[in-house]
Amino acid sequence: MPKIKLHWQILIAIALAVVAGLITGHPDETALGARAVEVYDFFGTLFISALLMIIVPLIVSSIIIGIAGIAREGRLGALGGKTLGFYIFTGLVAVIVGLVAVNMARPGFINGEPAGDQLALDRGAEEVVDQVEEGGAGELVDIFHRMIPENVIRAAADNELLGLIFFALLFGFFMTRAKKENADTLYRFWDGVFDVMMRITYLVMLFAPIGVFGLVAKVAAETGVDAAGPLAIFALTVVAALAAHVFIVMPIIIRVITGHNPYRLYMAMGPALLTAFSTASSMATLPITMDCVRKNVGVSQKTSSFVLPLGATVNMNGTALYECVAAIFIAQAYGLDLTFGVQFTIVVAALVTSIGVAGVPMASMVAIGIILTAVGLPLEALGLLFVFDRILDMLRTATNIYGDGVCALIVAHLEGEKDLLPKSQGNVNI
Ligand code: ASP
Repeated sequence: MPKIKLHWQILIAIALAVVAGLITGHPDETALGARAVEVYDFFGTLFISALLMIIVPLIVSSIIIGIAGIAREGRLGALGGKTLGFYIFTGLVAVIVGLVAVNMARPGFINGEPAGDQLALDRGAEEVVDQVEEGGAGELVDIFHRMIPENVIRAAADNELLGLIFFALLFGFFMTRAKKENADTLYRFWDGVFDVMMRITYLVMLFAPIGVFGLVAKVAAETGVDAAGPLAIFALTVVAALAAHVFIVMPIIIRVITGHNPYRLYMAMGPALLTAFSTASSMATLPITMDCVRKNVGVSQKTSSFVLPLGATVNMNGTALYECVAAIFIAQAYGLDLTFGVQFTIVVAALVTSIGVAGVPMASMVAIGIILTAVGLPLEALGLLFVFDRILDMLRTATNIYGDGVCALIVAHLEGEKDLLPKSQGNVNI
C-alpha cells in the first residue's frame, strides 16, 4: 500500500478532528461532549508531553554541537551576525505588516466611533490615558534578566529556554577552547546525545496525526462556530495580515535574496507548519521543524542546529505581528489618540517582547499585557482577546515556524550551501 506522506496524514487528521469536535458538541452542554473532550484531551496531552520531553536535551545538544562546529571553523561571528540580523529584520517587517493592516482595517472602530462600548470596555479614554507608563519598561528589562539564569538546572526544569540557550551558547563556545582531548570527548558526547534525540523525535512524529487529531478536536468542540461581532473584524484583520506576511512579503524576501522558488518552502515545511498550527507551541514543534529543515529544505546540520533552536524562542514573526495588531486594536477601541509616539512604542515593544516570550500557547497574552502597560492601557481589555485567541494562536505559531524556516534557508544560502529546496524533497516519513 502506498504510504501517505506525513503532512497529508496530519491534514486529514485536522479535517476529521474539526468534524468530530463539532459533532460531539460542547463539553458543557452534553454528556457526550464532555466525555469526548476528555478523550481528545488525553491524546492531545500525550503528544504535547512527548514533544516537550525531547526539548531540553535536544536544544542543549543541538546548540552545543552547532556552536562548537561553527566556532572551530572560525565562522561564529559571521553566522551569528547573519542569523540575529535576519531575525530582527523579519520581526520588524512583520510588525510593520501588522501596523499597516490594523491602521487600514481599523477594527477598534464601529462606524467611525471607538468600539469600546459595544465591546463592554467600561472606561473612557481620559481615565485610561491618565495611568500612563508604570512598570512597562521594568518588565521589558526582565527579558534580559531571564537571559542569564541563576541556576541552569532550574532553567531547564522550568523550560526557561532563553536562559538555557544562553548557557548552551557559552558552553559550546568554550568547549572549543578546552584542551583538545577534552574538547573532542565532549563533542562526541553531545553529538551522540543529539543523534539519539533526533531518533526519538522520529518516533514521536509517527504519532503526530493522532496527537493533532486530539488537540484540534478539543478546540473545535470547545469553541464551536460562534463568532463574536466586532471581535470578528479584529480576528479577520489578524488573519489577513498573517497571510500577507506569509504568502506575499516573505516569499518576495526569499526570492530576492536566494533566487529560489519560495512556494516550495510550504511543502518542505508542511509537517512542521501543521504541527505548529495544532499545538500552538513553537517550542513543542522544534524537533519537527529541525527534521523538515534538514531533510526537505536541505539545510546543513551545522546551520540548522544553530539557527532553529534560537529561532524557536527568539524569532516570532507571527507573535510580533499579532501583538502589534492587538495592542493597537485595544487602543483604538478605547479612543486613545494614536500619535506617532504611541505607535512607535507599540512597534518597539512588540518586537522586543516577541523575542522574550516563550514558544508556548498563549504566550502573547503576557506580552500584550506588557505592551498595554507600556502605553498606559488597562489590562482588563486583555479579556476580549481570549475569544479568538486559540485559533489566532494556532495561526501565529505556524507563522513563527515558517519564519524560522525562511531564516534557516536564507542563512544557509548566505553561507554558500548548495542544493537548497530541491524539487523532490526527502520524505519525512520514517
Ligand atoms: N504560541 C506562540 C508560539 O509558541 C507564542 C504566542 O503566543 O504568540 O510560537
